[in-house]
Amino acid sequence: MNPDSKIFVTGHRGMVGSAIVRRLQAGGYSNIVTRTRTELDLLDQSAVHTFFRDEKPDYVFVAAAKVGGIQANNTFRADFLYQNLLIEANLIHGAHLADVDRLMFLGSSCIYPRDCNQPIKEEYLLTGSLEPTNEPYAIAKIAGVKLTESYNRQYGRKYVSVMPTNLYGPNDNYDLASSHVLPALLRKAHEAHTRGDQEMVVWGSGAPRREFLHVDDLADGCVFLLERDYDGPLLNVGTGADVTIGELAEIVMDVVGFRGRIVYDRSKPDGTPRKLLDVSRLAALGWRARTPLRAGIRAAYEAAPFFE
Ligand code: GDP
Repeated sequence: MNPDSKIFVTGHRGMVGSAIVRRLQAGGYSNIVTRTRTELDLLDQSAVHTFFRDEKPDYVFVAAAKVGGIQANNTFRADFLYQNLLIEANLIHGAHLADVDRLMFLGSSCIYPRDCNQPIKEEYLLTGSLEPTNEPYAIAKIAGVKLTESYNRQYGRKYVSVMPTNLYGPNDNYDLASSHVLPALLRKAHEAHTRGDQEMVVWGSGAPRREFLHVDDLADGCVFLLERDYDGPLLNVGTGADVTIGELAEIVMDVVGFRGRIVYDRSKPDGTPRKLLDVSRLAALGWRARTPLRAGIRAAYEAAPFFE
């Protein structure tokens, strides 16, 4: 890619898309194209196809998606499946029709089987059953991976799929009903601290293990691949280390300065017991995550909308 290549970043108001835009700008890319939802509805096939025909970007980041935490995924199952299938199908097929040769599809580590060996290698995809709480979202993301692979096989495109682990950072969703665990715990700890509460509620048993990647690291990894013209198979992006939800809650409380007790709400689901990505394929290309978890959580806290 040249500094003036036209790069279309979808989902630029979201956590991932906005991080990719920041990283591209920092890297000197000057021709970044974005569209708000009112300007371009990604669920509208003909609008997306017309956009590609008119704009003909050199590269597309598929960072737009309907996303959410365990409760949102489990509740709005039809919306997660339908909207994600349409967004990725419209973007990938639309890019192909306009002869856009390069594209990066962002997925999620939940595409892998629930009970697969850890750390999770890319080749474990489709070797077992999925975690039920986010199966519709995972099926949509698996379809996206297969779209990129199939357009490459049938039409010789260079579309790549990247699977990040659990992400956090600026522009995260802090709505407690629909957010992921890390922003939820930051907000709960902050509010408990502000109110002078004695305790804070954490969903589930605290025992599940999760790996957390700062979104700026993800964006850096994506631009690393773009700049190396990577057009190989599916790639995991993570830190290579995980913590229990209980340990995460302790770190968050420490960062916020809240000294109360943790109360586990076992009526809420644990979800997947563990999903630690094997990141050796990406490491072999020369990239690794840089942000230590505690420093990243502190930075996310200071960027949170409720931080004063
Ligand atoms: P997942 O990685 O797809 O399971 O999504 P989440 O990030 O929403 O949840 C990860 C784990 O954190 C699950 O075991 C949740 O039950 C647990 N968890 C603990 N407290 C919370 C909370 O307040 N919000 C969310 N979303 N998850 C929580």
